[in-house]
Parts: sequence; C-alpha cells; structure tokens
Amino acid sequence: MKTVKDFNFKNQKALIRVDFNVPLNDQFEITDTNRIEAAKPTIIKILEDGGCAILMSHLGRPKGKQDEFSLRHIVDKTSEILGVRVKFATDCIGKIAEDAAHALHPGEILLLENLRFYAEEEKGEKNFSKQLASLGDIYVNDAFGTAHRAHASTTIVAEFFPNKKCFGFLLAKEIESINKVFKDGEKPVTAILGGSKVSSKITIIENMLDKVNHLIIGGGMTYTFVKAQGGKIGNSICEDDKQELALEILKKAKAKGVQIHLPVDVVGADSFSNDAKMQIFDVDKIPDGWQGLDAGPKTLALFSEVIAKSRTILWNGPVGVFEMENFSKGTISLGEAIGEATKKGAFSLVGGGDSVAAVKQFGLENQMSYVSTGGGAMLEMLEGKTLPGVAAILE
Ligand code: AMP
Repeated sequence: MKTVKDFNFKNQKALIRVDFNVPLNDQFEITDTNRIEAAKPTIIKILEDGGCAILMSHLGRPKGKQDEFSLRHIVDKTSEILGVRVKFATDCIGKIAEDAAHALHPGEILLLENLRFYAEEEKGEKNFSKQLASLGDIYVNDAFGTAHRAHASTTIVAEFFPNKKCFGFLLAKEIESINKVFKDGEKPVTAILGGSKVSSKITIIENMLDKVNHLIIGGGMTYTFVKAQGGKIGNSICEDDKQELALEILKKAKAKGVQIHLPVDVVGADSFSNDAKMQIFDVDKIPDGWQGLDAGPKTLALFSEVIAKSRTILWNGPVGVFEMENFSKGTISLGEAIGEATKKGAFSLVGGGDSVAAVKQFGLENQMSYVSTGGGAMLEMLEGKTLPGVAAILE
C-alpha cells in the first residue's frame, strides 16, 4: 500500500483529492473545519518535501455552476488552517486551471473550483479525468468520504498515474484501521452493531460472521431477533419480514462459532418521546403499549463484560435512541466501556454514521483508538466491499 511517505515530492506537483465538502452557514462560513484539518498532514508533508499541492474537492450537490457551492468561500479559512495563503482557480479544468497549476511554485497550494460543477465528475468521464490528471505529476487520494464512488477525481483519474499514485495519510489511516479489525485484529474480536433496522445492516452482519468472535446486536434491530424467537416486544420497532432472516443469522453464527449477544432487558417507554414514562422490562416481556428505546442495566453489564475481554472492537450504530437524553444512557455507557477497554490496550474503531455522531456528542472521541471520517465509505468497507477509490490506487 503506497502512501505519501513513499514519495519525495521535491519539485513535484501533487494532485490531491481531498474531501473539503464542509458545512457552511448562511454567511458562507465553515461551521465544522474537521475535514480540512484532517487533510493537513498530507498537504504539509508534500510542501515540506519541496513540492506543491493542487487540491481538488466537491462541495455540496450543485446543479451546474452555482456560486453558493463555489469553493472560493472556503479559501480564507483553509489558508488559515494550513498556514499558507491558498491560491484559487475559478475552474477545475481547462485553461484557467492549467495556467494556475503551471504557475505554481514549490511550497504553494492551489485549490481548484468545485469538481461537481461538471456532471462529468460523478459520471467518471474519461476525458474530464484526463484533463484533471494533466495538472499534476503525482496523484494522491486523501478523500475517504468519497472513496466509495467511482467518480473522475476519486477513481478514474488514477489511471493516468500508473506508477505515481498513492494514499494520503487520512485515507491510509482509515484502511489500516479496518485492516486492524478484519485482517490482523488480535483476538477476541468483537463487533457491536446497533442502529434501527436489520435490513440496513444485513450485509454488514453477514460479513462480520466470518471475521469476529463476538457479535453484539443492539438498538432497534434487537426486537426483530427477539420476536423471531417468540418473545413479546410490545410496540417496539420490528421488521416482521426479516424475522426469518434473523433466525438464519443466529443459526449461521452458531455454525461459525461466533457468539451472539442480544439485550436481555430494555428501557421501555410508553411513547416515542423523551418525556415518555419509563420502565425496565425483560427484552422478551415488553407489554403492549410499551416500546424498548434503550439497553437496560443487565444488558449493559453483559455487553461491558464482553467488551472488557475483547482485544479488538468495532462499533457501528447506537444501542438506543441516543438523540433523546432519557434514552442515551445505554449508548454512553457502551462507549465508556469501549473507552475503558481501549485504555487497557484493546484496539477500537468506531465507524459508519450514527455511532460516530454519538461518540462526538458525548465527548468520547478521544477514548477510541480511531473514529472513522467517512459514513457511507465505512459502511461499504464493513460490508466487505473494496472501494473503487482504494482499488484504483492499489491496481
Ligand atoms: P442506523 O443509522 O441504522 O445506525 O440507526 C441509527 C438510529 O437508530 C438512531 O437514530 C437511533 O435513534 C435509532 N435507534 C436505536 N435504537 C432504537 C430503538 N430501540 N428504537 C428505535 N430506534 C432506535
């Protein structure tokens, strides 16, 4: 796996796909600069080598050229974060981009205009990719958030750099982290899958069965499993048409020697609201009119015990409706248990959507070994897929 470490960028123009798809407010100010900060180490390494950096990214979902989606809005803040005055090209291909790239000196940074001003970007069009490629000497992909898309700047452009392409630090770290779980993870390996629905996690669950020793299933998915086994789940969320699938998963897990851990008790609510009446129930004895919205105390003790003896931990999905304060305790205490295990030397990866949001919201980010930066991309990795943006560099 080649990374920026494997190249000396002296007098080289690095064409870097970054993910600067940052949130902007009404005044076009960046409200979360994480993505820019995350790309900084890669850019700085290239500049310190004596190279220059040509940054390309998308921003939002423009329909053609729309000024509100122009990357010019982020130039000042990006300059401040990177500590270098960033130049801006008002187009990402053609004469404007070529002239700006040509005029670039070592130590300088150029940001190209929004790639998605051209429909060719998302189509992965070859000629557009070739025009992008003409701007740089070495291609670097550091945009994990779009690595699952076969777009021009994330995938096709790599074809024009047969021996001069590599991963940036950020993308490399994402790949290393997932490999640490799936390939060289110290045993026991435990995956914790929460979230609302079995249907959206089924491919991940199936992939996990070949890779982990323990599988903790929590959140809204619980009730489909419990009902399938004959339990009473009251008004809890359930996908009736997935009951058979749930039983099949349990059977497969047994055959493969994977230990499945499901909740044994829940925090029930008499409505889907933070102000609902609350009561603890056994997971298979939830009365009608009540629904399980969080993991109960016995469940958390059980899950914590499994986590404490794990050496590698993957967490995807909350175990309760963490958006409501009264039903967030399970997710928080699960996060804390993972934090404790991490302190004792386990490797922990949090990835794929809502668990990342939860970890950030509850200030648990620093207690995890790694928190993934790409929602959709991480989900596809968890499903066992090779991302096109990753494959394009490895080829
Ligand atoms: P996902 O995007 O599949 O990871 O699902 C995350 C969502 O699952 C969050 O918005 C949670 O509120 C929701 N969730 C977790 N536990 C439950 C539950 N017991 N009942 C309903 N929704 C839940």
